[in-house]
Order: sequence, then C-alpha cells, then structure tokens
Amino acid sequence: MDIKVLSLPAEKMKQKTRDESQLGFGKLFTDRMLMIEWKTGQGWCDARIEPYAPFVLDPACTVFHYAQEIFEGLKAYKWPDGRVVLFRPEMNARRFNQSADRLCMPDISEELFVDGIKQLVALERDWIPTASGTSLYIRPTMIAVEPVLGVHPSNHYYFYVILSPVGAYYAAGFNPVNILVEDHYVRAVPGGTGEAKTGGNYASSLKAGLEAKKKGYDQVLWLDGRERRYIEEVGAMNMFFAYGKKIVTAPLNGSILSGVTRDSVLKLAPTLGYEVEECPIEINALMADMRAGKVTEAFGSGTAAVITPVGKLCYKDEVLQLTGGKVGEITQKLYDTLTGIQTGKLEDHFGWVKFVE
Ligand SMILES: *Cc1c(COP(=O)(O)O)cnc(C)c1O
Repeated sequence: MDIKVLSLPAEKMKQKTRDESQLGFGKLFTDRMLMIEWKTGQGWCDARIEPYAPFVLDPACTVFHYAQEIFEGLKAYKWPDGRVVLFRPEMNARRFNQSADRLCMPDISEELFVDGIKQLVALERDWIPTASGTSLYIRPTMIAVEPVLGVHPSNHYYFYVILSPVGAYYAAGFNPVNILVEDHYVRAVPGGTGEAKTGGNYASSLKAGLEAKKKGYDQVLWLDGRERRYIEEVGAMNMFFAYGKKIVTAPLNGSILSGVTRDSVLKLAPTLGYEVEECPIEINALMADMRAGKVTEAFGSGTAAVITPVGKLCYKDEVLQLTGGKVGEITQKLYDTLTGIQTGKLEDHFGWVKFVE
C-alpha cells in the first residue's frame, strides 16, 4: 500500500527543544503522524503521513463508550554515525495483531505496520534526540470510530502512529524503585484481556497505583487474579528475580503482557553467563527466599525504561530491601548490554536492530 505524504506548512512546524535534559516522557510530539483507516467492505485505505493535529470525532464513537482501543510502544535511536534504528519492531507488529484479535479489531500486515513507522520516523529524524538515555518513543494506536451506541465491533477504525522525543528515563540516575505487592485489586484474570495492550487494562489499574503512591511506593506488583498468590507483572513492566546467577520470571499464562524486553532478556541473559527460567513465582515463597537472602536482585523490563532495578518490595506490611538499595550486578549488566545494542555501542548478534533507511 502506498502511503501519501501530505505537505507540512511551515507555520505548522514546531520549535524543536534544544535542551534534551528537559524532555520528560510523552509530553512533546513531533510535526507529523501516520494515519491509515479501515472500513468494513473496504479494508485498509487512505494511508497518509499528515501534519500532527487533533481529531474531530463524533461523541458517539465506539472507542469512547466501549473502549475498543489497542496500542503499542517502541523506540527509535539515532546512532553516532547518523543512522536511525528501531528495536525488534516486527515483535510489536505481531503483538499489535494479537491485541487486535482479542478486541475484535482488524489485522494489519506486519509489513505495513513496520514500513509505515519507518517512513514516518525517517521524515521526522531531526526530532530524534541524541543525548545519553534519550530516544524517539513511537506510539502506534488503533481506535474504533464508528458513531453508534450498539455494542458490537466497529465498522470503521483509525490506525495512527505518533512520535515523542523522550528524555533519559532515569533523570536522577539509575536508581532502584520501590514496589508494593497488590493483594486486593487485580489487573487481569484468566480469559480476560491481560495479554492485550488495550487501554481498559490501564484505566482499571489507576486506583491501585494511586493508593500505592500514597503509601510511598512507585509501582504496583500484580498478583494473579484468581488466588492472588502468584507474581504476574508490574504496571508496564515484566518482573525478574535473580537467585545468584539464575534469573526467573513468571510464564506467559494468558494474563501477562508478553514484553519484547522480557523476551530480549530471556535470550540475552544466557549469552552473558546467566541461567534463565520461566516458572510460577509464589509470593510467600518469594518473600521467604528474600528474607533468607536467596533472592539477590529484582528488576523490571519494559520499553520505556528498558531495565528498572527494584529496591524495596512490600507485601502485607512487610518491607524487604534488595541489594542494600544499590543496583545489582546482573541488573546493571543487562541494562548496559541491551541499551548498548540499541544505541550501536555493542554488536547486535541477534538481528534485533532494524535500520530505518
Ligand atoms: C508494554 C507492557 C509491558 C512491557 O512490554 P515491552 O514490550 O517490553 O515494552 C509489560 N507489561 C505491560 C502491562 C505492558 O503494557
């Protein structure tokens, strides 16, 4: 499918921030966006890259009432030699279609998804920050825009991609976050939508997040929705625990988001001399192992921060501290290696990096 590039009038071009330390996360957007529509009987149509602008949407659109929406998150990096790369974008395309299937939304070819992003990022390459830890965050989204209140899959969709230059996630340095294990609210249940990257999962997680903040914690660690006994994941990160040279994470059981970073850790760690295992992690057993000093490190994995070290873990009023508040050796090694591959400092033996031009 041909993607039409609409002209960008000079007066619509935004001032590019020069101070890359002030970028933050997802607050600033580039000049253009990719837009493709889907209509029943017609399929994908009218692909275009157009000036970034608000949508005018009918208040009755399905997305506003029944949350038929999915999204993705990935990043582009500009290497010191000027080349621009994406990290495993085909994984995001695949997951986007899995989310689409769960929400009864149309499938988009991996080729159109990845090529559309490449074309948009190439046009917006001057927006990609280059300071250490910065990148261009890419947010593909699909929404249901048929204006009708009946509960059924929409007959009209927008697939769009917006870009946001983002700052170093750890403005104050690579510091451990403190995590509260949630034993009341749940994020997902077997048979639900936990495996899909869909807005509703995040709306329903906000309350637990706010209550955790009030208690002084940065993030919530979700337990399984049936027994509230098994570790699932953190807000937008999968969780890993290290026992010496072995790292464990929960298996993909249908209610956990299948992270691209999680998959990358599982493939990368063995090449760095660590053993990996996907196995159910029972919270009481984990707390006992932490008390006994068997758990040597804990970290989260996700596109936004790549690897996040965990400091304190609180479960039912018991607070346990990991790594003495410092960043563990495995956590640091995985962070350095993954970001090294993404930014071209280390060789990519996996074929993960995809050049944009
Ligand atoms: C996006 C996300 C992750 C991390 O996935 P990555 O592909 O590694 O960015 C983990 N959990 C949830 C709930 C997410 O939405």
